[in-house]
Amino acid sequence: MMKIIFLGTSASKPTSERNPSSVALQYNNGEFMLFDCGEGTQRQMIKKVSPMKISKIFITHLHADHIIGLVGLVQSMKLNGRTQLLEIFVPKDTIEYMKTLFSIPYFSADFDIHVIGVFEEKIDFDGYWIRPFPVSHGVPAIGYVFGVNDSRGKFNKKLCDELGIKGEMFALLEKNGKIEIGGREISIKEVTGKTKKGKKIVYTGDTEKIEVFPEEAYHCDVLIHESTFVSQEDKKETYHSTVKEACEVAKLLSAKKLVLTHISQRYETKEVADESKKYCENAIVAEDFLEITL
Ligand SMILES: [Zn+2]
Ligand SMILES: [Zn+2]
Repeated sequence: MMKIIFLGTSASKPTSERNPSSVALQYNNGEFMLFDCGEGTQRQMIKKVSPMKISKIFITHLHADHIIGLVGLVQSMKLNGRTQLLEIFVPKDTIEYMKTLFSIPYFSADFDIHVIGVFEEKIDFDGYWIRPFPVSHGVPAIGYVFGVNDSRGKFNKKLCDELGIKGEMFALLEKNGKIEIGGREISIKEVTGKTKKGKKIVYTGDTEKIEVFPEEAYHCDVLIHESTFVSQEDKKETYHSTVKEACEVAKLLSAKKLVLTHISQRYETKEVADESKKYCENAIVAEDFLEITL
């Protein structure tokens, strides 16, 4: 099970309703990950996300409204006695810039922080994976596809009994994918139910509309797309997207659900929602503390 928690949904600066960008993801009711960490993120986390359970932070780009919350968050982790490694993923070529964020005077963490530069390579973790991809924002910037591995179905108990699979044989079957009983080889697929497809989330960070995505992004369960502007007139030549453009990307990717975020302070939520309804039935506008369970 996965839970997405929107901690900050505002573009550039906080408003009375919205904090700057950050999205938390809880994997399997345990470990948390953050996507971006704007100013004030740790306050938004109170009662929702434990800083001590954050294993990884995925940064899309180094504009201040996406990273300024990191220093305070790391400071709090230190005060709470954290010893566990923290991994921070950033667009490649920005590793040194990210490190300067932690070089302010009289500041240190008592635990290891690894800053890892990424661009387009898929990275596998225990049970899930991440696939960064380049976006277009005028500075080095990436989006991320987060995916959970497919999981196999449950053992068919009746069939296992009939074939004589018992006790430690199950562990062997899991480990090797097959087992031999009475001269017959039995594969794990024969005795388990249908494979369960893992869920996928795409998070664009800040970007103007792009049309090239990695294949992993298609048919995602949730597309979290920035939609800073409602009208093209407001957008002008900025490297951001309009609601209409975000809806077009959702169609391109055949996303099951579109969540619009990074909303300019000039708009009321209703204005953004009304605009999205013109182009996309499955779109919602994120509010701070919106939770989506997958
Ligand atoms: Zn931004
Ligand atoms: Zn930006």
